[in-house]
Amino acid sequence: MSALDRPWAINWDVTYACPLRCAHCYSESGRRASRQLSLEDMFRVADALISLKPQSIQFSGGEPLLVKGVFQVAERIAQAGIPVILYTSGWLLDERLVADVARIFSQVHLSLDGATAKVHDTVRAKPGSFERAMKALGLLNEAVREQRQRGGKVLTFGIDGVVVRSNFHQLEEYCTAIVPRFPELKFLSLGAAVPSGLANRPGYADHELLTDDQLWLLGSGGFTRYLQTLAPASVKVSTTDGLLLQMHPDHIASGRALRGLMHVEPDGAVRSMPIYEGTVGNLLEEPAQVLWERALARHLDPYLAETLGPVRTMKEWAKAARRIDLHYGSDQVRARIFLRQNYRPPRPSDSGILGVVRRTPPPGRDLGPAHAPVH
Ligand code: SF4
Repeated sequence: MSALDRPWAINWDVTYACPLRCAHCYSESGRRASRQLSLEDMFRVADALISLKPQSIQFSGGEPLLVKGVFQVAERIAQAGIPVILYTSGWLLDERLVADVARIFSQVHLSLDGATAKVHDTVRAKPGSFERAMKALGLLNEAVREQRQRGGKVLTFGIDGVVVRSNFHQLEEYCTAIVPRFPELKFLSLGAAVPSGLANRPGYADHELLTDDQLWLLGSGGFTRYLQTLAPASVKVSTTDGLLLQMHPDHIASGRALRGLMHVEPDGAVRSMPIYEGTVGNLLEEPAQVLWERALARHLDPYLAETLGPVRTMKEWAKAARRIDLHYGSDQVRARIFLRQNYRPPRPSDSGILGVVRRTPPPGRDLGPAHAPVH
């Protein structure tokens, strides 16, 4: 049996609805239709995913806690013996929900994109989101403390930070000012923003994707070890440059590309690669194993190797990612991409919403051919 006979983990974006408006959002959530399934169809997708026997299934989005029935679906997967991991901004996590979250999920990753309200709220384009994230971490901390006292299952929770230029100067502060506030917290994962979704819009690499020097630092073990010395010993600090997700042909050849992660869209469509547009079919229509094998075959498509082969810098990666999205994306995907505005940094006069998306196409613009180069 080969390591790729089945996915070792599955990420399911259970909705594209989201109360936040992060400028880097990989799924463009909150600015597009949610594509959420009925509860009955969510169970069908869950059963298809269970049939693949992955080591874990991650619920992401969008904001999973917005989905009616999300706990029932997660519970079905957990009862099949597969750990379910929740990715959330914490915006909706309150006293009412935290008990179910702690009971059903094995792990919670709470997104924090700055160590202060000013930075986090700007990156997330939502005033008050830092305060809500802190409150959610406090609730998780308390729930875990109670679980530990009672004995039995204990939830693991931690912080995930998307690292961009706006928060790069705060990485030490995550370790010294945030993490120590929550004694039950177990991990801090800091990952470079990768050029996916809104983070590969023209302009975003010039202002927010890390410089190549910053990316190198984040990917170096020495920097991770340094951050680890600043955090409490009970917290595992990890950093990543995100290159595993790039699918560079050299990484595929050497086994360093992250090929074992299956990515599922809210309506059950399976992506060929987690960070690029393009699907290979839908779990409601075809067997999961067939779709998995089709996704793996896409990784070896000569177009992918030709487009990513010359990539050496973050800016080149962003440009290649735009070409890949247009090449593999459907007409609907290309229409959505053409409606995006180029990224511009927020000005003091902005109301906090970064990366506004045009609602109608610019006059006279058509969708262009599927292989149109973009810049
Ligand atoms: S990145 Fe931000 S906008 Fe996108 S799903 Fe996550 S919280 Fe919502």
